[in-house]
Amino acid sequence: MKMKTTFIHGGISHDEATGSVNVPIHQTTTYKQDKVGVHKGFEYSRTGNPTRLALEKLIADMENGVRGLAFGSGSAGTHTIFSLFSKGDHIIVGDDVYGGTYRLINKVLKRLGLTFTVVDTSNLDAVKPAITENTRAIFLETPTNPLLKVTDIEGVAKIAKEKNLITIVDNTFATPYHQRPLDLGADIVLHSASKYLGGHSDVVAGLVVTNREDLADELSFLQNAIGGILGPQDSWLVQRGIKTLGLRMDAHESNAKKIVEFLSQHDKVEKVYYPGLASHPGHLTAKKQTSGFGGMVSFELTEGLSAKTFVESLSLITLAESLGAVESLVEIPALMTHGSIPVEDRLKSGIKDELIRLSVGIEDSEDLLEDLSKAFLNL
Ligand SMILES: *Cc1c(COP(=O)(O)O)cnc(C)c1O
Repeated sequence: MKMKTTFIHGGISHDEATGSVNVPIHQTTTYKQDKVGVHKGFEYSRTGNPTRLALEKLIADMENGVRGLAFGSGSAGTHTIFSLFSKGDHIIVGDDVYGGTYRLINKVLKRLGLTFTVVDTSNLDAVKPAITENTRAIFLETPTNPLLKVTDIEGVAKIAKEKNLITIVDNTFATPYHQRPLDLGADIVLHSASKYLGGHSDVVAGLVVTNREDLADELSFLQNAIGGILGPQDSWLVQRGIKTLGLRMDAHESNAKKIVEFLSQHDKVEKVYYPGLASHPGHLTAKKQTSGFGGMVSFELTEGLSAKTFVESLSLITLAESLGAVESLVEIPALMTHGSIPVEDRLKSGIKDELIRLSVGIEDSEDLLEDLSKAFLNL
């Protein structure tokens, strides 16, 4: 089955009992048992809910995994994945991961005794030397947020397999439409479904997929034990969003390419970050492992120009955190999404004050270009 068909017909896509072409929203906590312990596969909705199960089976199909699990947010999914590890375990983390992941690691997980080494995983040579005898996993994002650095998933997974480490990939930016990390050797995939999968800025959700039965059982146990599950209404919304993921990603990418071309030629722009640009350091790897370059674009204004003035001058493109939805969003990582990262760490990662991140939506590109042009006139 091709991807766009899987999005609509994958997992559990309809209701056998009634013929409804959509999965019903099973707004229930518990399930009637015919005799003690005799039930239809559901006992209590933290453990399992039919609407959530439909989404979980869908994301498993989309990522080519054996099991999918849905959480109340991407962060809840991340936390549950890290709960696979115990005090003293060491994990290698990409140097440009989502700000909230960075906060979870530094302010919560370190306190619980997990140890971490931050590595630029886009440089494969930097990965191996960071492995210690306590290392259990490598956690990375590709492309990263907000600099869109690209890591060779196959390369990292190969290094990890030699040392029996688990490779975990946050696939939020690329989505399974463009990139399937499990096929490239990763063991666990994470999504903030609040972004492209939901796609309409109307639901916060997280999805985790694995293609290993042992990890599937451990993660299912942790999902039930920790309890950060996604509710039935939100599960339904994510499934509804996924149906149009292919169409939306095509449109995001087409608009992003036009905006990248415009920004690249603008004299008030110092640098454009987009994996689709031949000049981007990760371009060849992105070309090899993804079927598209996505809708995220970051750029730096020429030194001395105010990112704040620029974003506040936009009228159609909305100033907001988050990304991946139908409407275009803009933000300043240094002041917004990555504001919780200590300044030295942020600058070391290359996130300058003049950096602006655009989540290119699916509006008419002419309107987006006009909005950007007008904002440049205010600088
Ligand atoms: C948003 C995001 C997360 C966190 O997901 P939430 O649903 O906001 O908890 C994790 N990784 C990436 C890349 C994200 O963009």
